Amino acid sequence: MSIGWMCVITLGILQMSVFFTTIYLHRAVTHGGLHLHPVVRFLMHLELTVFTGVMPREWAAVHRKHHQFSDKEGDPHSPYVYGLWKVFFGNFFYYRSECKNPAVVRKYTPDYRPDIIDRTPGANYGVLLGLAIFMLMFGWAWGLAAWAFHVVAYILLNSSVNSICHMIGSRNFDNLATNIQWIALLTAGEGLHNNHHEFPSSARLSLRRWEFDPAWAVIRLLEMLGLASVSRLPIAKAKAA
Ligand SMILES: [Zn+2]
Ligand SMILES: [Zn+2]
Repeated sequence: MSIGWMCVITLGILQMSVFFTTIYLHRAVTHGGLHLHPVVRFLMHLELTVFTGVMPREWAAVHRKHHQFSDKEGDPHSPYVYGLWKVFFGNFFYYRSECKNPAVVRKYTPDYRPDIIDRTPGANYGVLLGLAIFMLMFGWAWGLAAWAFHVVAYILLNSSVNSICHMIGSRNFDNLATNIQWIALLTAGEGLHNNHHEFPSSARLSLRRWEFDPAWAVIRLLEMLGLASVSRLPIAKAKAA
């Protein structure tokens, strides 16, 4: 396979992981802003298990704690508490120290209902299957390199939202998070983080005419296909007002 095709496939898998993180993990599981068809939920959960290793219940717990303490003592990864670059480069470790704390997971996600993937033994080692898939597609050396790129890029895209999008950028609302459109384009809308902190349960993150939330376009498409239903859209009310 040519290097060009390897890049296209790797970036495609990266963007798939990014879209499923915001649509399934963040907007549906964590904030309940939309309901996804069980088959869509399963496929998104499976992709994240294999290519990111994120466990939805852990992710939701840490993120809900982030909303509770936003940019104050207790926030798992605030750049105001720990420093911008420490969170940018160390977000993964801040996240890990919280998500592996059973007390945090129990406290913040009592409503979480495990699905068949959660109940599958060894699901937390799913990333090794992802590595094997990359190696089968590209050969062991290129496969390992592409997998490593995917993992690092995924971590840094998430950490850019938790660090940069809490300090630098524009604000529509009076909270410390910021909107950065170019980060939103790379993170399927997550970069519109000031809007999100104002309306956490909104399935749509864009508000102004010039703001673009790529995942919202996918959610609308899923809705048209009968595979998703949006339960909360407070941002639409703000827009109308
Ligand atoms: Zn935030
Ligand atoms: Zn959130």
